[in-house]
Amino acid sequence: MFEIVFLGTSASAPSARRGLSAQMVLHDEYRFLVDCGEGTQRQIMQSGLGFKRLSRILITHGHLDHILGLAGLLSTFSRWEAIDGLEIYAGRWALERIHDLLFGVVLRGAKPPMEIQLVPVQEGVIFRSEHFKVSAFPVYHRGPDCFGYVFEEEPRRPFLPEQAEALEIPPGPWRRDLVNGLAVSLPDGRQITPDQVLGPARAGTKLVHIGDAGRVDDLVEICRDADGLVVEATYLDEETEMASEFAHLTARQAAGLAVKAGVKHLFLTHISRRYRERDVFNEARTVFQDVIVARDFDAFQIKRGEMVRVSLKGENEG
Ligand SMILES: [Zn+2]
Ligand SMILES: [Zn+2]
Repeated sequence: MFEIVFLGTSASAPSARRGLSAQMVLHDEYRFLVDCGEGTQRQIMQSGLGFKRLSRILITHGHLDHILGLAGLLSTFSRWEAIDGLEIYAGRWALERIHDLLFGVVLRGAKPPMEIQLVPVQEGVIFRSEHFKVSAFPVYHRGPDCFGYVFEEEPRRPFLPEQAEALEIPPGPWRRDLVNGLAVSLPDGRQITPDQVLGPARAGTKLVHIGDAGRVDDLVEICRDADGLVVEATYLDEETEMASEFAHLTARQAAGLAVKAGVKHLFLTHISRRYRERDVFNEARTVFQDVIVARDFDAFQIKRGEMVRVSLKGENEG
């Protein structure tokens, strides 16, 4: 299961209600901040997520509405020493700009408050833990080296309790070991292998995050069967030409991608002040049923085939 918290959902410039692009993806103890628009640190505080374990930041591309918040974050970290190290993943062009911002503007020769690693992203797996992996894929947008990210749990073989009962395997550590793929010897001396109590492998939860994008035909396969898809919807159908000129998507195009790829739940973000939220929703909804136009501080749990809205324990309540 992944959890996603939207921290900023506005396109290009903030509005009174929406901050600039940023979202947190959580899995077990791992956290990934995806994009870091201006004002993100305050959104993190207000969400109640805090800065602990915030050591990995994935950047979709180097436009200022997605990276300026890194400067503020680093400035704050210089005072607090909240974390031990920071890894910032991005394409080369974005990384150059981030380097200038952090080392040229914020630090200017001062020692970083923690080790900062700028990690160039290429297509493929960029992070792997025991239970899930994160991969990068190229996205077409204005400027070079734009990437999206796929968060994907490893396939798992489900435990079949009725098989375990039939084999008279007592509850306790034996079942746990079998679930973890280990053969066990029972107290009565019988040997049981995992194959006897585990079903065929099932795909894990898949969450795809696309930042700004100018076309969708090259994204269908990467989004195939995703449980959740986060993608921009900067324009409406009536301004398709402008959308393509600036390499952005309309709500209809984003929803069309969800349909073609067989996505379960669609989250639209990067919402322009030019439109009412309801119009963005309605346009997408005519194409794809399970759509949410994300607002700042919206949070969702995404599991295989299901999605649940969760409320944050943050300072924004009350
Ligand atoms: Zn943008
Ligand atoms: Zn952009």
